Order: sequence, then structure tokens, then C-alpha cells
Amino acid sequence: VPFDQMDGDIWMNGSFVPWKDAKIHVLTHGLHYASSVFEGERAYGGEVFKLRAHTERLIESGRILGFKVPYSAETLDAATNELLKRQGFVDAYVRPVAWRGSEMMGVSAQNNTINVAIAAWVWPSYFDPEQRMKGIRLDMAEYRRPDPMTAPSRAKAAGLYMICTISKHAAEAKGYADALMLDWRGRVAEATGANIFFVGDGVIHTPDPDCFLNGITRQTVIELARRRGLEVRERAIMPEELSGFSECFICGTAAEVTPVAEIADWRFTPGDITRQLIGDYSNEVQPKRQAAE
Ligand code: PMP
Repeated sequence: VPFDQMDGDIWMNGSFVPWKDAKIHVLTHGLHYASSVFEGERAYGGEVFKLRAHTERLIESGRILGFKVPYSAETLDAATNELLKRQGFVDAYVRPVAWRGSEMMGVSAQNNTINVAIAAWVWPSYFDPEQRMKGIRLDMAEYRRPDPMTAPSRAKAAGLYMICTISKHAAEAKGYADALMLDWRGRVAEATGANIFFVGDGVIHTPDPDCFLNGITRQTVIELARRRGLEVRERAIMPEELSGFSECFICGTAAEVTPVAEIADWRFTPGDITRQLIGDYSNEVQPKRQAAE
């Protein structure tokens, strides 16, 4: 079934509309000029993990693009919860999106309506589950993450995904699952939709998120690793260093914690630290319900 033909409802600008009717005009500013921001969230056991953090990031991404999301975080969170209930989803992926509408065409569209929609669907695994167990294979991307002075790299903005889709398609065409992107300086940055971690001599290393998303999953994984007493170093990592690491994994809301077996000519073996963090993350995302006594 094509994605736009599924059953169910989508929350759009304050009310629920049938999935197939959640349409926009072809002259939408967001489509032509990428004036669009979005989120990716996951519900586990009926509750979105860190929902408010995602909602606040959506609002902040809009602010960075110069617009105000016209709903409060409370309203958006309530809409998300209501949507999950209506759809009857327990474990699901949630996609909020906010964009400039179609009242004006041109680079400037100061007064265009800001639209917001929230859709949810069942999306069990971002990568092929079999590959995911062994560790996925990444190619090196041709494009680099831009300098923060070149693009608003802290926003989860649709425009920043142009180079991600190009890079992921190029990697897939060569049989890889995804691509590793360097930053404009040539430092290791992230995958096309997830942050990256390495393990060497029992220490965890991950790039400073100074020109890409400081993922909510990334922050959670760092906290979980430190809770275990593991050392986590956030620092500049050059590609030449990759040969010195034994384990590698990527993480993000959709990808969760996914082991990496290869990056171009480098090899990694999913080991104890990756396995422990996969387990810790899957425990952490389950709703913490008060034990009824
Ligand atoms: N980097 C990129 C480019 C992403 O698309 C994502 C997924 N939103 C992440 C990192 C990870 O972010 P999060 O853990 O907040 O989902």
C-alpha cells in the first residue's frame, strides 16, 4: 500500500482528518523552499519516549527557521497521545511536521500560514533486522555536514536532509545500509539519520555535536553508558582513527542502537559494550509505570 493510501487518521492543523485526505497544495512554500521542520519519535508500550523533548525540539527548529509553531507543546503532546489511541498503536513511530503554507510564492513568505501535522505508523526496524544483528555496513558519503555558518545545523530541518537522501541512496546503490558523513572539516560526523559511537580499549568515543543534531537518543546513550561506569569522550574524531576502534554503533529514534560491522574499509565487531547499551536502551524506553501496591 502506498504510504499516502493507508487507513487511519492524521492530526492536521488542530483536528483529525482521514489519512488519505491529509493533503497540501503543490505551491506549498515548504515543498519549494524547504521551509519545513519535523520530528521522529517512537512510542513504546503506548507512550512516546521523551515526547516533550521532541516537541520542544520541533518548536525550536521552527524558531531557527524563523517561524512560530502555532500550537503549544501541551497541545501537540495531547494530540500525539490522542492519535496513538485512535490508531490503536502501542509501539509506533510518530512523525510531526511543521511547514510554511501556500498563500504566497517566492523566497519571502512572511505571512504564509504555518501548518502542523502529526502522523503515526508501525515501523518495527529502521534497518533490515538480520543485518542489524550482525552489524550494518556503511559507505563513506560524498557530501559533508555543512559548517554551522553555512546552514542551521541545530534544526531538524527538511532542507538539511537533501544531502542525507543523496548519500543514503548512493550507499544503497552499492549495497550498503547507510553512509557515514564527515563534517566540513573532514571530521567524523554522523550517519544520514543517526549519531555514531565507537569503542576502543573499553572507552566510548563520539563526535562533538557541533554541526549536526545532538540526538535525544545520543544523549540517552551517553547517560546510560555513564550510569554503567563507562567512560564517554565527546571529541573530534578523524577518519584515520577508525582503525583503532573495535566496536561501532549508530543511534537515533528510528535506528535505536544499531551495531555497525563495516565503514568502507574499516571493520568492527559488535561486542559487550554495544550489546549492553542495546539492552539498556530497550529497558530505558519502556514506560516507567508506578507499581500499584
Ligand atoms: N542525526 C540525524 C541526521 C537524524 O536524522 C537523527 C534522527 N532524528 C539523529 C541524528 C538522531 O536524533 P534522535 O536521537 O533525536 O532521534
